[in-house]
Amino acid sequence: MNAPAPAINGFAYKIVDHTYDVVVVGGGGAGLRATFGLADKGLRTACISKIYPTRSHTVAAQGGMSAALGNMGEDDWRWHMYDTVKGSDWLGDQDAIEYMVREAIPAVLELEHYGVPFSRTPDGRIYQRPFGGMTTRFGEGIAHRTCAAADRTGHAILHTLYQQSLKRRAEFFVEHFALDLIMEEGACRGVVTWNLDDGTIHRFRAGLTVLATGGYGRVFFSATAAHTCTGDGNAMALRAGLPLQDMEFIQFHPTGIYGAGCLITEGSRGEGGYLTNGEGERFMERYAPSAKDLAGRDVVSRAMTIEIREGRGAGPNKDHILLHLEHLGEELLDLRLPGITETARIFAGVDITREPIPVLPTCHYNMGGVPTNYRTEVVAPRGGDPDAVVPGLMAVGEAACVSVHGANRLGSNSLLDLIVFGRAAAIRASELVRPGESQRPLPKDAGDFALTRLDRFRHAKGGTPTAALRGEMQKIMQNHCAVFRTGDSLKVGLDLLGESWAKRADIRIADRSLIWNSDLVETLELDNLLMQAVVSMASAANRTESRGAHAREDHPERDDQHWLKHTISWMGEDGRVRFDYRPVHLQPLSNDVQSFPPKKRVY
Ligand SMILES: Cc1cc2nc3c(=O)[nH]c(=O)nc-3n(C[C@H](O)[C@H](O)[C@H](O)COP(=O)(O)OP(=O)(O)OC[C@H]3O[C@@H](n4cnc5c(N)ncnc54)[C@H](O)[C@@H]3O)c2cc1C
Repeated sequence: MNAPAPAINGFAYKIVDHTYDVVVVGGGGAGLRATFGLADKGLRTACISKIYPTRSHTVAAQGGMSAALGNMGEDDWRWHMYDTVKGSDWLGDQDAIEYMVREAIPAVLELEHYGVPFSRTPDGRIYQRPFGGMTTRFGEGIAHRTCAAADRTGHAILHTLYQQSLKRRAEFFVEHFALDLIMEEGACRGVVTWNLDDGTIHRFRAGLTVLATGGYGRVFFSATAAHTCTGDGNAMALRAGLPLQDMEFIQFHPTGIYGAGCLITEGSRGEGGYLTNGEGERFMERYAPSAKDLAGRDVVSRAMTIEIREGRGAGPNKDHILLHLEHLGEELLDLRLPGITETARIFAGVDITREPIPVLPTCHYNMGGVPTNYRTEVVAPRGGDPDAVVPGLMAVGEAACVSVHGANRLGSNSLLDLIVFGRAAAIRASELVRPGESQRPLPKDAGDFALTRLDRFRHAKGGTPTAALRGEMQKIMQNHCAVFRTGDSLKVGLDLLGESWAKRADIRIADRSLIWNSDLVETLELDNLLMQAVVSMASAANRTESRGAHAREDHPERDDQHWLKHTISWMGEDGRVRFDYRPVHLQPLSNDVQSFPPKKRVY
């Protein structure tokens, strides 16, 4: 690390320069798995996180992580692959999916050896619970595939990964807010951060930069995601002139607590919980006669929305659905679902041993993100090559679109994605970068782009408070880009978001300091969210079919002839979105499994 230099390039900021082999932006499950893997390979690795790593949203993951271990019944990675392809509504890339489900098995065992305290079967093996869409024999039976540490699996995994990273002496830059990538002639050369604690600006030069910044659930008013889930890495990619992929696909979890939005894990239905409408009917039997309450999340969320719309909701306003766990008994709830017992008590005022929990579909996961190949290298169509690699840049976790989840992610496949592709990033990086390899000097203006933006918001003197604009955006997304969509409503939403985008010029910041300036942090996050809201709404308006989580009432059928392809979207400062497409990889990675060609879904 060099001594702090005074102002450079005309900006009154203290700049600190660093050089690393690899810089990982994000200390959640994906970022930490990449970090310790990289450090393990002898690469000088920095991990940057805007919050303390163990507070990352991964800590909130409850239900578990899938892997065809077959500890509690028969299982096979090919069945897991089939379920994931089918769950993705055939938009998932089958080479990446094969890689993920095969690597799942050693990845879980490796985690166990690193110290994750998984729940156990009576004979001491890792406990596995059923989860939505996870089946045996290509849809015939229900698989027990989701490895769980009670209902605190993310917590257990995240803490283990952090300890493993510390053990390998990875260097952490905590409470550093990454502002923008440093780009040079289409390649990534590093990243610029703002140290929230002392106000210094840091330029990280690196052979490789890994984006692991998580999802952007906070574009919605009601979301299960933490307030920090603002998709900063996705927005940095857009500002760097790179595209995002499949941003129209946003997952709504069927069981967010009514009002608060907090998650009640799908594991609760895996353990035997079920949903009823206001008339006490187990309505999922009508919508998915075989999978019932364990159908894919898109199916259950739509069914709930239809029940409420048709006047069969629960409560005085008939505006929610009930989740029943009271029949499971106190002992099982204590053993397997202690976390949600507490969540339901605090956020719904409900004792789950006696009464049902009021729930509503709530924004839960972003299938879209920075497009990558299965080696986690970022790709962007260039010169006729849809899979051209962007040198120097990788992406993992919810920020990335590999695409293993396609149009709809299956529950417990995300924790798996973090671990498998975090590890893959370390493996690929060690092929691309040699420890201590010398790096060219950064361009003279490196960092100017980031500082210009920071400076603009820091001195913003307009009339619109950040919180007001954020609330406006969240309501627009909630009203126009939710479980069901129509062309007309999306168009209105897009126009309204255009007005919100323009209001950025009128932002008002009250605090101009550089130390713990949460007003400025929230404004930078809002700017990032707004970009993703616009891109998501525009992509949803553009895709005139229904697939996975994207349900267009004016185009109710899946249209493989025109839409079996990934949406690629760019966005400029003028707020306009430009589209291109990438073909879906329908070929698996090996000859050990056949391709699963698109077919109609039956539940
Ligand atoms: C309530 C809940 C329950 C879930 N349960 C499950 C489950 O049971 N099973 C499952 O498979 N999936 C589950 N998911 C999904 C899964 O947990 C997430 O997709 C996953 O944890 C995302 O991990 P990540 O590492 O990509 O990002 P995160 O864990 O969100 O971490 C993002 C990291 O990036 C850093 N960061 C972001 N922006 C910046 C910036 N500008 N500068 C510096 N650092 C930055 C943050 O500090 C953080 O460290 C759940 C999700 C939620 C919300």
